[in-house]
Amino acid sequence: MLALNNIEVMYDKIILVLKGLSLKVPQGQIVALLGSNGAGKTTTLKAISGLLAGEDGEVTDGNIQFHDKDIHGMEPDKIVREGIFQVMEGRRVFEHLTVEENLIAGAFTRKDKGGAKNDLQLVYEYFPKLKQLKSRVAGYLSGGEQQMLAIGRALMARPQLMLLDEPSLGLAPLLVREIFDIIRRINENEGTTILLVEQNANIALSIAHYGYIMESGRIVMEGTEDKLKKNEDVQEFYLGLT
Ligand code: ATP
Repeated sequence: MLALNNIEVMYDKIILVLKGLSLKVPQGQIVALLGSNGAGKTTTLKAISGLLAGEDGEVTDGNIQFHDKDIHGMEPDKIVREGIFQVMEGRRVFEHLTVEENLIAGAFTRKDKGGAKNDLQLVYEYFPKLKQLKSRVAGYLSGGEQQMLAIGRALMARPQLMLLDEPSLGLAPLLVREIFDIIRRINENEGTTILLVEQNANIALSIAHYGYIMESGRIVMEGTEDKLKKNEDVQEFYLGLT
């Protein structure tokens, strides 16, 4: 469904952050992109969703294929219309809007307004907490509730591919488990393909089918979740098992 072929990304025309990165996200799968702080994971997601330009970043080499169409260079809203929706790190929600208004805003690219209304109920089934809080102003929600809202809003766009940037960040372990279970259910029940960026390799590999490990702008290892979990280096450096 998505393929990044040898992409290079530069910030400010001089800082080379991605140094020939290739990865594939097959339809229907959850793929995890793992790696430490500063490896270039967020930059990879922004390259896909067209958000680098706003940060003086640029894809300077390689290409990004989505269903055999090269989407590199497209405007971010066009990329959303192609079916790719990014949930940003730090759960950016519209703080002054209510929960329900935030969710409705997620459907902005959709033409089938009736379908969007049904999907509001679907989001409330996945996140009953959001239904309870639907009239609450989003800025007053807890971190976990805002993360749920950010994912719920993405679901309202009915993307084929959802890009998730560190959904576990800053959340208590029980809440992380709950949110990751919901991500898995969305993938299974709605068929939404997911590219998941995480520093928390344990939780990511508990739901991913396949994973890539990134260091300093390059992929250094890849494999099925099973293969990665059994790898000694992964256990030592990313899973904290040895
Ligand atoms: P984190 O988990 O901290 O978000 P990451 O793996 O997602 O880490 P990136 O945020 O993609 O890493 O950052 C990769 C490198 O690019 C870092 O060295 C960072 O300082 C640099 N970088 C990120 N954004 C910019 C920017 N707008 N301008 C210049 N350099 C940037």
